[in-house]
Amino acid sequence: MATLAGLCACASTPVQWPSPEGQPRLPPAREINPIARPDATRPVAIVGATLIDGRGGPPVRDAVVVVRGDRIVAAGARGATEVPAGAEIVRGAGLSVLPGLIDAHFHIDGDDGLPGLSLQRGVTSLREPGNWIEAYDAARKLGPVPRLFLAGPMLDGPDPAYPESAVIVRDAAEARWAVDRLVERGASAIKVYFRLPLGTVEAIAQAAHARGVIATAHLETVDAAAAIRAGLDGIEHITSLGTALVPPREAERYRQAVIARNEARVQGRYELFRGISLGAPRTSELLRLLATRGTFVTPTLAIFERRAGDEGATETHVRGFENMMRLTGAARRAGVRVVVGSHGEVPGAERGWAYQHEMELLVESGLSPMEVLVAGTAENARFFRVDDRLGSVEPGKLADLVLVEGDPLADIRAMRRVRRVMLNGRWVASPQGD
Ligand SMILES: [Zn+2]
Repeated sequence: MATLAGLCACASTPVQWPSPEGQPRLPPAREINPIARPDATRPVAIVGATLIDGRGGPPVRDAVVVVRGDRIVAAGARGATEVPAGAEIVRGAGLSVLPGLIDAHFHIDGDDGLPGLSLQRGVTSLREPGNWIEAYDAARKLGPVPRLFLAGPMLDGPDPAYPESAVIVRDAAEARWAVDRLVERGASAIKVYFRLPLGTVEAIAQAAHARGVIATAHLETVDAAAAIRAGLDGIEHITSLGTALVPPREAERYRQAVIARNEARVQGRYELFRGISLGAPRTSELLRLLATRGTFVTPTLAIFERRAGDEGATETHVRGFENMMRLTGAARRAGVRVVVGSHGEVPGAERGWAYQHEMELLVESGLSPMEVLVAGTAENARFFRVDDRLGSVEPGKLADLVLVEGDPLADIRAMRRVRRVMLNGRWVASPQGD
């Protein structure tokens, strides 16, 4: 088994992404919040930074990025890209300029200041996969927040793990009814939760696609391969793959434990993952299915992180988490569309740094820094279905940008040194880096 790569995996090979088969063609998604546009039309030129445009190609040293209004109008090497007369010049020497980061799995969890803080740390779009849309009302009144792509409450069966942020559906008809209501209220994705049986998962995926939105799931009691074949577009949490990776008798024991008692998953997932084998045919078959279908996988490693020496961490926690990281690396090597989701607040990161911490864990899992940056920008834009206007630094795209000090391709921890953030062509006030 491969050892874990260090934080600085400096190799920068071109990133290859699969061409998905059998995926529904859906319209672009819309954020629920209006995003302020710049007052003036004076162009902004970022001059001399290294451009990492989100698409996975070689970085452009000493680049020029020009923004006019809410759009990027030019991006390229300094000699080949004109700086318009009268532009506001931002000196980029020593900085890297990237697309605004996209967070596929953010929970506000009653912390109304967290969306705004995440914006200051470079997250310009987020998806909350499981809360009422009005849970963001207070956050939006506090100041600028990222573009909000909300799923509304998750759909779960009785008895739900989180009643406060779930809608209970008891059969396929109720599932279709709930999908219709959520989409009418602005949901751009539907979140399937783990008590729902396979038939209901299938009904939700079909109803979501009929309404033009994706379906993504946290699984515990439904086999991941079966759920993907039933039409899911995304898998939330690497742990959702667990029961598909162990012998059937062990998977069934876990299912029954969680069906009997939701909390059984909290310890049970580490036992399950401690026992998985990356070399087993069932593992490579599942990864091949994910890659072929183009299913997006949001590992959210940071929420599961348990290290030797952590309070209460057992050998099972530590080995189980190591295997979650190994599986994430193996998934990417197998061509699976791994994306970045922070979970909002996590044990191993200070408040507001969960996204950066997740990027570091993905590098530790064996993704190159370039793969992680693409996963958090262009690939997440495809997952959100906003790649028509977001996810890369290209002429015509909306001007969501982050400038960091140093070179995140050499060391992903540079993503913590946030110097400036632009949302829709406007600078975000007082970003804080370390
Ligand atoms: Zn979650």
